Amino acid sequence: MSRALRSVGIVIVAGVAWLATSPASAQGRRVTELPAHKWEEINWMRLKDIVPGVTDRAILPIGTIEAHSVDPNGSDILIPLKLADLTYGPANALIAPPVYHGPSGQGLMDMAGTIRIRPAIFEEYVYDVLKGLARWRIKNVLVVNGHGGNAEPARRAAQRVYDEDGLRTMVVEWWNFRRDLSTKIWGGKPHTPGHGALEETALNIAYNPKLIERDLYDKVGGKELGSQEGGTGFSVFPGIASMGLPQEPGEGLPNFDVDKANEYARLLSAAMAESFLEAIRRWDWIASHHPSRPR
Ligand SMILES: [Zn+2]
Repeated sequence: MSRALRSVGIVIVAGVAWLATSPASAQGRRVTELPAHKWEEINWMRLKDIVPGVTDRAILPIGTIEAHSVDPNGSDILIPLKLADLTYGPANALIAPPVYHGPSGQGLMDMAGTIRIRPAIFEEYVYDVLKGLARWRIKNVLVVNGHGGNAEPARRAAQRVYDEDGLRTMVVEWWNFRRDLSTKIWGGKPHTPGHGALEETALNIAYNPKLIERDLYDKVGGKELGSQEGGTGFSVFPGIASMGLPQEPGEGLPNFDVDKANEYARLLSAAMAESFLEAIRRWDWIASHHPSRPR
């Protein structure tokens, strides 16, 4: 056997092994049955076996790196990673390579480890990532956003790529999404989740409880770490609080219950998958009423 033929043989054997791990036909297969569901773990010759036969959907986690009380500096990307991990199965979507960096809050720039990307750069970056997904026939994207400053630039990028390439995107800010779930788990009054407070700490716990420094929280004290976000009547440069509490007094203080944290992550991700699937149903229905192309 020539060297070239032997190479072909190796490729065929490797291909058979890959296919053996999943049913022969793409029809009816789910992303969870694939050997890999993360975009960066799939080789270029295999993508055509997955898109669009197994799925034409992707989840894009986006975040930033900034101080978050006794939670990790990467909270805003670690949470989307966790939510994507819980959502990709029910949404039957690949997970796209995450965007770790974003436009961190300028009030946190004096706190060690914070890194800020300028918003215009971030928008262009997300735009290019979405263009890349569209280029390879992804049709529906769920952007799981972990950071407030990302929201506007990400929405602008999504609109641009829809206009240019027809890519359909849902951008979800987890803290604004289904706020009733927080009340359902922890009780209390409905509130806007704070920065590094109850809900964000819970989702970090769901990601990895070992990363939360509860001892440090008890030692330093919540009041030193956070302040009311509104109604204080002053501004400080640089900022003086690494945690932000909801505007509603007494609401949203961190709670370190691991079971409740996991339940919150589970309910939130299930609701995200459901909303994404509903959006796809509606997009498809709307598209089914477009005039057909002239022959
Ligand atoms: Zn955050």
